[in-house]
Amino acid sequence: NEAPDGTPIDPKLMRIQRTTNPRPKVPQKELVFGKVFSDHMLEIDWDYKNVRKEGGWHPPVISAYHPLSLSPAASVLHYALECFEGMKAYKDVCGRLRLFRPELNMQRLNSSLARLYMPSVDPDAFIECIKELVRQDRDWVPEGIGYSIYLRPTAISTYPFLGVGATKEIKLFCIMSPVGPYYPEGFNPIKLYADTLNVRAWPGGVGNTKVGGNYGPTIRPQMEATRLGCAQVLWLGEDHTVTEVGAMNVFFFWVNEQGEKELITAPLCRGDVLPGVTRRSILELAGKWREFKVTERAVGMKEVVKAKNEGRLLEAFGAGTAVVVCPIRAILYEEEDVVVIKEGDDVGPLTKRMWDALTDIQYGKFDHPWSVLI
Ligand code: PMP
Repeated sequence: NEAPDGTPIDPKLMRIQRTTNPRPKVPQKELVFGKVFSDHMLEIDWDYKNVRKEGGWHPPVISAYHPLSLSPAASVLHYALECFEGMKAYKDVCGRLRLFRPELNMQRLNSSLARLYMPSVDPDAFIECIKELVRQDRDWVPEGIGYSIYLRPTAISTYPFLGVGATKEIKLFCIMSPVGPYYPEGFNPIKLYADTLNVRAWPGGVGNTKVGGNYGPTIRPQMEATRLGCAQVLWLGEDHTVTEVGAMNVFFFWVNEQGEKELITAPLCRGDVLPGVTRRSILELAGKWREFKVTERAVGMKEVVKAKNEGRLLEAFGAGTAVVVCPIRAILYEEEDVVVIKEGDDVGPLTKRMWDALTDIQYGKFDHPWSVLI
């Protein structure tokens, strides 16, 4: 990262001011993703001229969840100088709290920060602060498989300056939202709309970072997908290559043209795909199983249609922190339905197995280096 870092985050300097006004918890069954927030939040400010001349991170603060006060000139509001992460904390059967591969979220956060010419965070120090926040609100972490608390670490430029230039003031914060199971009644395979008009990301763009500016412009295409009876947009890249689904990475499991079973997903090298933590975990698990070929390669929609027509397309699923894996039922592409799961047919075995393998680790069914105790 070229931006000036200055004093690093120091969890030992953390101030904790517990709320005097704890709010009632929402019953587990009524939890809706991202609408309810826990009692506390974490804030760490950065400025260019703090302790040392080059600036740095102020002491971390945990306090009651509260509105932020910002200058209307703050450059986050004008030029989208913002990036964020999405991760979860899980309560295991013994009541212990766990994170899933948090160092990968920190790596991605630093890559997003660097793209915005913002300072980096020390991964261990920031994870330590996040862990303390989860501990403070441990009562807010719902119990049971499928339940978790979603963490939203976010960095915004609070610098009041209308010039398009490097920020000198940042607020890094983390809020938390308790969430229920994505599939309370079992898997619900979705239909996708392969958008041939709007493009989410492109080589040389910022699609490989989690900057807020990537997400606002996806809402209109998403509304179009909904109008067409589809649950999510399938984002295509150059030559209609498959990149991602909504806010998930996408996998196909097929018999390739050489007759081999293969799990395939878009590569990261073009810069038009977000490096998902779930994506990477699926690639690593499947690689270890050594039961079929595992490939990162750009796949064109024409290849998907051909595989489908030749009976070689076995399964397709999206993958991300919110859903773990999301089976794909069909893809609407150039006005034709590419059906992956026929009416009445069950979700494919690999999709189910991936869901089990990942959730077993996340909920600490056995010790695994990917599951980090808080
Ligand atoms: N792609 C996009 C565009 C996303 O926003 C997300 C969610 N972070 C993902 C993929 C999945 O990433 P992860 O597995 O880290 O949640």
